[in-house]
Amino acid sequence: MKFRAKVLARWTLLAAIVAASGFLAWWTWRTTASLERLGERSVIDSTVLLVREKLDRVESMIIAADNAVIHLVDPDDLDVLAERWPALADRVAPSARAVLVLDEAERPVRAVSRTTADDADRFRQLFVDHLRAELHLRDQAVGEHRHWHGTTAGQWSLVSYFVGESGGRRYFVVIETDLDFVRREVLPKLFEDPLARGRFNVTDDQNRTLFGRSLATAGELVSARFPTTLYKWRMAAVPRDDPEFKARTRNRQLIEAGYVGLSLVVLLVGVVFFTFVAREEERLNQLKSDFIATVSHELKTPLSLIRMFGEMLATDRVPSAEKRGQYLEIIVRESERLTALIDNVLDFARLERGRTSYEFAMGDLGGVVFRGVEMFRYRVVKERPRLVTDIAEHLPRTRLDERALHLLLFNLLDNAVKYAGDSDEVRVRVYGDARVLSLDVEDQGEGIDPEDARRIFERFYRGRNASASGARGSGIGLALVKHIARAHGGDVAVVPRPGGGTIFRVRIPVDARDDDEA
Ligand code: ADP
Repeated sequence: MKFRAKVLARWTLLAAIVAASGFLAWWTWRTTASLERLGERSVIDSTVLLVREKLDRVESMIIAADNAVIHLVDPDDLDVLAERWPALADRVAPSARAVLVLDEAERPVRAVSRTTADDADRFRQLFVDHLRAELHLRDQAVGEHRHWHGTTAGQWSLVSYFVGESGGRRYFVVIETDLDFVRREVLPKLFEDPLARGRFNVTDDQNRTLFGRSLATAGELVSARFPTTLYKWRMAAVPRDDPEFKARTRNRQLIEAGYVGLSLVVLLVGVVFFTFVAREEERLNQLKSDFIATVSHELKTPLSLIRMFGEMLATDRVPSAEKRGQYLEIIVRESERLTALIDNVLDFARLERGRTSYEFAMGDLGGVVFRGVEMFRYRVVKERPRLVTDIAEHLPRTRLDERALHLLLFNLLDNAVKYAGDSDEVRVRVYGDARVLSLDVEDQGEGIDPEDARRIFERFYRGRNASASGARGSGIGLALVKHIARAHGGDVAVVPRPGGGTIFRVRIPVDARDDDEA
């Protein structure tokens, strides 16, 4: 139950972390996207303001000029206008080109141009031919000041008209704005700033460009009409830095997504790693408890045998001399087993603490193995399996630790007897060349399950055949074998024996350092 709760907690935590990371990623993405939209919006808004400001400036200038002219009109003394305006025009009303004053019946009473008398006549004619019909002067209230914008004879015209009253009689002032002047002087001045250049234009109601360049290919535009004066015209602008801003935001979005993705990967790797470590730890703890249980059991069995037969001998309850000999043999064999077990455990404990000390000396592997097998043979009293040695002669000498190699050999032989006890023979072979020496311990048993074969060299690991057969053991034998092989610069491997059984192959590279020095 406790284990289940732990697993549940781990998976819940993992799911929570993944969900939280996903949410974080989504949130970051969304925030940058809305920032991008906000940024775009603010660029557009500021461009709209800019366009309005420029329109206002053009309009204010035109209206101010009109007002200045209207101010000069005295319906009772029109000479004032004719005399004073040309002198003042450049300064106070640069955009006004011609002025027409009409009486109550809309008859032109005076036409003045800032250029020539002919121009004044042209404007008068224009009024008579076209403008009169357009302006509807009669319908206007006194004090009203309005604008008319349109084309006459294919030309754009802007006129402003004012309805005044003097001595109970109405009069009209019609002022023509010089659109050439607006296009040549006023607009270029407005856009001479390098940041504005190329970004603005003015088009008419047929989309013809009157000022600036065509912005048809410039993408998204902001545009507005002149509110009161040149109301048939439209000013458009390209929002500033638009593509650049977009690219920057996109980049930032990608970088942030990258960061979040990376953090997510680190987080997941961390979680997977810690889960793995925790599971390993759990597995190792389980193996350790099993180890303690088996070792205690292993210690107990030979001890109780020794005790039982020792007591029988001590109390002289032995039927015959032959039995006595057998009992003594059992006592010796069990104490041998005890010693081997304790040696294994002690060596293993030293190895676990990282304090294994080897005593290397030059030696002959064949001889070491031969002596080891003989010592083991003395322990194994059974008839089967036969222990056969096949040791090549004249093998090169190498640096080795005889005691450690005996431990290695005993463990391999002990396993061969334990797990392949029904083999006819267990063969120990030593062979090699000038570079590598090999030691094979070969049995004819059942072999090892391939699943187990990958793990049997792990400490505390015991195979299926161990639990199935109830063979004594602690799961540290092969871990020791591996450690010792590696300490000699070599390794150990398990190979299936052709025809059934197992071969444990220890390979040790020849190290003749000390011999050379001698
Ligand atoms: P122990 O023998 O104490 O269980 P070892 O580390 O010596 O531990 O061996 C690990 C496992 O390898 C054994 O439990 C057994 O399953 C398997 N094994 C070792 N030697 C042999 C062999 N000669 N034949 C079959 N299985 C073996």
